[in-house]
Amino acid sequence: FSEEQKQFLSGFAFGSDVARAVSGLPVVSNSAAPATGKATELTIGAAAPSAPAGPEQIAWQAQQEVLDRGDRLCNEEKAKREKNPLDMWSEIQQRADAGEFPKGTDVFLTKFHGMFYVAPAQNSFMCRMRLPGGLLTAWQLQGLADLADQSAGGYLDVTTRANLQYREIPADQAMNILYGLRDLDVINLGAGGDNIRNCTASPLSGIDPHEFIETIPLARRMHHYILNHREMFGLPRKFNIAFDGGGTISALDDTNDIGFHAVKINEENSDAEFPAGIYFQLTLGGITGHCDFARPTGVLLRADQCVQVAGAIVRVFVRSGDRTDRKKARLKYVLDDWGFERFITEVEQELGDPLPRCDEARLTKSTVEDRLAHIGFHAQKQPGKQYVGVVLPVGRLTSQQARQLALLSRRYGSGEIRLTVWQNLILPDIEEQDVQRVKDALVEMGLGYEASSFRAGLVACTGSGGCKFAAAETKTHGMFLADFLESRFDLDVPINLHLTGCHHSCAQHYIGDIGLLGCKVEQGDDMVDGYHIHFGGGWGMNQGIGRLVFESVAFSDVPAKLASVISAYLQQRHDGESFVAF
Ligand code: SF4
Repeated sequence: FSEEQKQFLSGFAFGSDVARAVSGLPVVSNSAAPATGKATELTIGAAAPSAPAGPEQIAWQAQQEVLDRGDRLCNEEKAKREKNPLDMWSEIQQRADAGEFPKGTDVFLTKFHGMFYVAPAQNSFMCRMRLPGGLLTAWQLQGLADLADQSAGGYLDVTTRANLQYREIPADQAMNILYGLRDLDVINLGAGGDNIRNCTASPLSGIDPHEFIETIPLARRMHHYILNHREMFGLPRKFNIAFDGGGTISALDDTNDIGFHAVKINEENSDAEFPAGIYFQLTLGGITGHCDFARPTGVLLRADQCVQVAGAIVRVFVRSGDRTDRKKARLKYVLDDWGFERFITEVEQELGDPLPRCDEARLTKSTVEDRLAHIGFHAQKQPGKQYVGVVLPVGRLTSQQARQLALLSRRYGSGEIRLTVWQNLILPDIEEQDVQRVKDALVEMGLGYEASSFRAGLVACTGSGGCKFAAAETKTHGMFLADFLESRFDLDVPINLHLTGCHHSCAQHYIGDIGLLGCKVEQGDDMVDGYHIHFGGGWGMNQGIGRLVFESVAFSDVPAKLASVISAYLQQRHDGESFVAF
C-alpha cells in the first residue's frame, strides 16, 4: 500500500497475503509471492510447490483451483488478477483530478469502492454507501444531504438493501464523495463489485414490541468484520447477508445468500444443547432473481455465533464459487452442485467445530409480520414512544427533505433514522404528545405517513433513468401505476408492486404480489418500454416465486391489465382471501 492508502485504511486490519490469495485478489509487493502484473502469475505463479500446512493450506487449495480452471476465468476475474481493485485509491484520485471517468475493466474494478460509472444511461457516477442495518444518525443524514448538493445530483435514493445511493456525480467529484462519506463515518469499501453488500437487519430492532431479538447490532458487527478481513472482498460474485429478528417488519432474509432468522425454543422443547431462548436459523442460497429462496440448513445458532459462522461460509464460497461463468457464480450454484450437507461440512472444517443442528419441529417462529408496519405511526416497545414510517415515493428523497428529516429526528426523536428494504425510512422515539407536530411537519415538507395498499409496497429499481441495463422507466412507471390503481380501487389488503428493469432483478419482481420485469416490446415500427407481468410472489410465511402470466406487454397496456386482475380478485375472493392466495 502507498502511504496514502495506509492512512485512509488506518482503521482497518490489513489482511495477509494468504487471505488475499484466497480471495483471488493479487498479492501485493513486499509479500512472499510478489505481484508481477500478469493474471496467471499473480496468484497462481507464486503458489507453494507443495501443500503447506495451517491456514496457508486454504490459500494453496484456492490457487490450485484457479490454476485448474486456467484461462477459462471470466473477464472480471482476469481483471481482478491484473489489478487488485482494493489498491486503486490513488488511481481513482488521479482520474478525478483529471476529470475523467474509468474505462474498460476499470469501470468494473472501481465499483469495489462503491463508485459505479453508469454510462450510457447517465454520463456520471452512482455511488452506493454501506449503512449496516439501515441505521444512520441525524448528523450523518444532514451531512449526506449537503454532500449530495455539493458533489452529486442533490437527492438520495433509498435502495432495496436499506441503503442510500447518490447519482449524477461528475468525474471530478468522485473523490469529494469518497472523502465526504468517510468524514461522515460512512465506509463504503466493497459497496459494489464482487463483494458482500450492505448487511441488512430488521428496521425496528430494539423498538419493536413483538420482535424476538435485536438485529441491528449483529448487522453492524458483520459490517465491521467484513471491513477488517481482507479475504471478505473479491468474491466470485456479489453476496448478501441479512438478520431478521422475528418482528413486524421483515428484513427479507430469505432472499439473501445468508439469512439469519430469529426463532424461539420454548421450555418444553429445550435440552442441554439448546436451553430455552432465542436462536437464529441459518438459511443459505437465496437469490430470487434466479427463482430461489434461501433454504434452511438445519443449523441453529446463538446470536454471538452468527458473524463467525458467516465469515466461514464466505471463506468456503470464496474458494468454491464459480469464477468462470458470472451467471453461475452465486452461492446458490455451489449449493446446487454440492448439496447442503457437503457445504456445511466444509464450513465446519473451516471453523474447526461442528455446527449445532436442531430439528425444525422444536422451533417456534414469529407470526407477527405486518406488511403495513413500515408506514405510518405505531407504538414502540418503549412506553409512550412511537415511530413513524415515512413514505418516500419509489425511494427518492431530495437533499432539502433529507435535511428537514434530520432536523425533525433531532427535535422530536432521538436523532436516529432507519432505512428499510421497502425503500422508505423510519423516525423512531417520538413522544406521543409530539405526533401531531411530526405529522404536520412531514406534510409541510411534501412527504407522507400514509399510503394506499398499492403505494406502501411499491418498489422500483433505478430503471432506464439511470441504469444501462434497464429496458423500462421503472420508477416513473411505478408512480404512474400507483396513481392509476389508487384512483380506481379502495383496497383493504396490501398488494405489493415490484418493478425491475432487467433480469438482475434489483427490485425482486419475483416476490411481489405483482412483479413487473422490464422488456422492450414492438409497437408498429418502434420498440417501446414494456413488461413481463408476474403474479403471486411472496416472502417469509407466504414465500413464493411469482408466475409469469402476461408476456411482453407494452407499458401503455399494463394499467388496464392490472386493473382487470384486481377487479377479478375483488369480485371473486372469498372472505379474507389474500391476493396471493387468490
Ligand atoms: Fe439496473 Fe436491472 Fe438493477 Fe434495474 S434491475 S437497477 S435495470 S441492473
